[in-house]
Amino acid sequence: MTTSKPDATVLRTFAPERHDHRRCVSTALSKADAACTASGLRLTPLRRRVLELVWGSHTPVKAYDLLAILGRERHQAAPPTVYRALDFLQEAGLVHRLASMNAFVGCGEPGGTHAGQFLICSGCGTVAELAEPGLSKTIAASAERLGFEVVRETIEIEGVCADCRRSKPRTGRGAASTAAK
Ligand SMILES: [Zn+2]
Ligand SMILES: [Zn+2]
Ligand SMILES: [Zn+2]
Repeated sequence: MTTSKPDATVLRTFAPERHDHRRCVSTALSKADAACTASGLRLTPLRRRVLELVWGSHTPVKAYDLLAILGRERHQAAPPTVYRALDFLQEAGLVHRLASMNAFVGCGEPGGTHAGQFLICSGCGTVAELAEPGLSKTIAASAERLGFEVVRETIEIEGVCADCRRSKPRTGRGAASTAAK
């Protein structure tokens, strides 16, 4: 493992190389149950199943993929029902929507109010979620100077995760000196 360990500002890490993903899913579902109980929201079986499917992997999931799976599972999963379940999950802070990919990821620490700050790996598609209050403050202060009130903040940063950087070392920087053209 690397030396960097998740701290309070990391809400969701990239997928560990070898891990039991069922534990990620069950942890996410119990956190969701707790968050819903705390705020008096009802996690119906369909909402819970949609959340479980969003957590199916560490990469974002598109609505039509969810529709395809749910369509096979239950006849009553009409598209509007599934979209409403996604709306609920978003409003409850259990999933976030990544606009750049038009896809959803599960929130690693639902319950608290936090801005959406995401690191998206363009290699494997996994997503990490950050909560850097300093960043939000800076943005709010800059916006305020323009008389702008921030309602929803979603920052999507594209890059390459540690695993992908290890498995596909970049040529160029760090390559043999004779490689210069
Ligand atoms: Zn996992
Ligand atoms: Zn979150
Ligand atoms: Zn990656």
